[in-house]
Amino acid sequence: MRQSKLFTKTRKEAPSDEVSKNAILLTRAGFIHKEFAGVYSYLPLGLRVLKKIENIIREEMNAIGGQELLMTALQDSEIWKKTNRWDDKVVDNWFKTKLVNGNELGIANTHEEPITAMLTEFISSYKDLPLYVYQFQTKFRNELRAKSGIMRVREFLMKDLYSFSKTEEEFKEFYEKCANAYMKIFARVGLGDRTYRTVATGGSFTTNLTDEFQTLSEAGEDIIYITDEDKKRAVNKEVEDKSVEGRKSIEVGNIFPYGSKYPDVFGLHFKDEKGERRPIFMGAYGIGLGRLMGTVVEVLSDEKGIVWPKEIAPFQVHLLSLSNKTKKFADEIYQTLITKEVEALYDDRDVRAGEKFADADLIGIPMCVVIGEKAIESNILEVKDRASGKTKEITFEHLINELKS
Ligand code: ATP
Ligand code: MG
Repeated sequence: MRQSKLFTKTRKEAPSDEVSKNAILLTRAGFIHKEFAGVYSYLPLGLRVLKKIENIIREEMNAIGGQELLMTALQDSEIWKKTNRWDDKVVDNWFKTKLVNGNELGIANTHEEPITAMLTEFISSYKDLPLYVYQFQTKFRNELRAKSGIMRVREFLMKDLYSFSKTEEEFKEFYEKCANAYMKIFARVGLGDRTYRTVATGGSFTTNLTDEFQTLSEAGEDIIYITDEDKKRAVNKEVEDKSVEGRKSIEVGNIFPYGSKYPDVFGLHFKDEKGERRPIFMGAYGIGLGRLMGTVVEVLSDEKGIVWPKEIAPFQVHLLSLSNKTKKFADEIYQTLITKEVEALYDDRDVRAGEKFADADLIGIPMCVVIGEKAIESNILEVKDRASGKTKEITFEHLINELKS
């Protein structure tokens, strides 16, 4: 994409109404736009990152047998009354609304009840199980605090998967598979070395102990105690009050074991081989996509701006043409990158070189290809690695090979 055509502009000043690093950098670089407190739009650059995160999660969920669907944001209150969760004292952050006829509706906060109710129409036999269904769906939560930029918002895209198993063992087997898939996801988005599988309580969802996935960060609202560095295990402060010092962390995902609690309420059972009715064991597995993106910005950015890991960067290459004289040559390079299906942001704007460098550092694309006048004759390109700041000189062919490897 040509940067001259990108409607978003970078800004030098931090927005006056933001305190969190992720919101400041993402706003300055043109990834997001704040509508009001705790509600953000994703602009073209931000949407590209969000979609890449979505695809990584989709690949890992499909790899463990997940089937993707999409449920509605409007929900029937009757379904929630059956589990007692319609009560504002039980779930205190609902957005609710009414039909013209006065019937109450919930606006998607989570989906355990609707999915379990729906599956009573599809599951009846052992042959229908196990079943793993997931979605990328917008959740709405009337959060009290909204000071962490895109990490705690009132409207956000969540990946929520629900598992339905015939036995406790079958359930546990999947639970572990999903926990491993989560660690893969967090590694792929660049947070592998600082994300811990953490024992925690289940809040309003369940009285069972649950697993949270916590990423170490000073911007975190949680405190964890690392119990095994090699295996990346920890416990949440709310579970155990240890005398050792806790570490601040961000909950990027979690998984809940429910037993047969929700299926039992809705009469979701199955008949085994002998025709006997059996309970279904359920689990729920969430990841907040925006929170994950915000966490990456919190922990990987530096004083110059954002540093995107390769797999979720909005573009693979940031091509900078330094002057009018280099434009024609840079145009050709850009066209070739397109033909080779390399995702490139091409800074073809009529601005000073210094501004281009500063913006490239702020936007944070992993590799910057600088086209100066020297390149026209020598055919040698200067390539800068955003994370290390190191530069090297390589031929165009070499660059393509590196990008495609
Ligand atoms: P928290 O304790 O941080 O409020 P939660 O326990 O309410 O999170 P879930 O309801 O299980 O979390 O949601 C699953 C995932 O969705 C969380 O792990 C987190 O990544 C994300 N998430 C939850 N609430 C928000 C929010 N307000 N804004 C952005 N992401 C969120
Ligand atoms: Mg919450």
